[in-house]
Amino acid sequence: MTDFAAAVCKLKTLPQFAPDAKTAALIADTLGVYNCSRYHIFPGFCDVHVHFREPGFFYKESIRTGSQAAARGGYTAVCTMPNLNPVPDSAAHLQEELDIIRKDAVIAVYPYGAITKGEQGAELSDMEDMAPEVIAFSDDGRGVQREAQMRKAMRKAAALGKMIVAHCEDNTLLHGGYIHDGAYAKAHGHKGICSESEWRQIARDLRLAEETGCAYHVCHISCKESVELIRQARAKGLNVSCETAPHYLVLDENDLKEEGRFKMNPPLRTKADREALIAGLLDGTINMIATDHAPHSPEEKAKGLAGSAFGIPGLETAFPVLYTKLVRENIISLERLIDLLAVQPRKRFQIPFAGAFTVWDLEAPVTVTPEAFLSKGKDTPFAGMQLFGECLLTIMDGKIVYCK
Ligand SMILES: [Zn+2]
Repeated sequence: MTDFAAAVCKLKTLPQFAPDAKTAALIADTLGVYNCSRYHIFPGFCDVHVHFREPGFFYKESIRTGSQAAARGGYTAVCTMPNLNPVPDSAAHLQEELDIIRKDAVIAVYPYGAITKGEQGAELSDMEDMAPEVIAFSDDGRGVQREAQMRKAMRKAAALGKMIVAHCEDNTLLHGGYIHDGAYAKAHGHKGICSESEWRQIARDLRLAEETGCAYHVCHISCKESVELIRQARAKGLNVSCETAPHYLVLDENDLKEEGRFKMNPPLRTKADREALIAGLLDGTINMIATDHAPHSPEEKAKGLAGSAFGIPGLETAFPVLYTKLVRENIISLERLIDLLAVQPRKRFQIPFAGAFTVWDLEAPVTVTPEAFLSKGKDTPFAGMQLFGECLLTIMDGKIVYCK
């Protein structure tokens, strides 16, 4: 069997994927240089939750470096969150981001529009003007605190046929916390963030989604109560979906160290929470895995758990982490992982495949080496971890966007 024929055999086992002739020819050319017996071709991954930091925070990440990191992680489509400067809250502000995307992105980049002006939670953004150019609306980075504003936003989004994608966090329950309010925080004298700050706002939004008929997606769920709330909402037939991130599935507060690379929002929670998230993946309550790729400068992450900025890079580690810790440990199948990374996000967010796929050597041992990341963000809790799975090639619209 030729390399290409072998590759296509594997490809046939994957869901909903067929390359066009031009793309197939390009694969055939490129795959000739590799030993085909141990690699897999997957549809390009799709991450609905990344922070590429432009415009406004080029020193943390750029659309170029972020999209290059994504391609190296096997991603060919991402949705970028709006906590930028300027915040995309009007057509003019959004245009600044769109101009950079058109110039610098190496993969498909779909921006979110903000729900409220400046993500300040008061006045609604110019949702109508932005609707044709945004994937959905989100104030990610913070929760929309006022119920009346969220209700208005959901009514508007529903009328525009757009989804509300919510970072759920009730500020009145935060009390200056920065890691999970659990055993580690108590033992080490840290201020904790309780799970209720997340699930209480999800409960409110689910009620509003039911009332308004708005399509609603919850960002980065991290605790068992959130899984259960969304399970019940879906059982009721609400138009609701959610994501969790790789770090919540494979790490918990027992893995914490006194280093900024373990700090993200929401925080790593308990073993019971981690197990509930896995149960949610298994029963389909959690529709997709998103990275919440949120890079910062080394200085911003050098201030321990209390002082560092929230957020970690995730695009270049997601697949090897999930493949090694979930698939090779027989917790989920490879097919389900690809479903969660590539198929379900596209289905929910209506993002096309665009002749996009990625080739991986699943037997290659890899050590997570942040210095080698294409992302500017290097502070990952997975640093030094021994994993399996190396991206060899990513193709988008018939063009090579990453090649080892
Ligand atoms: Zn968030």
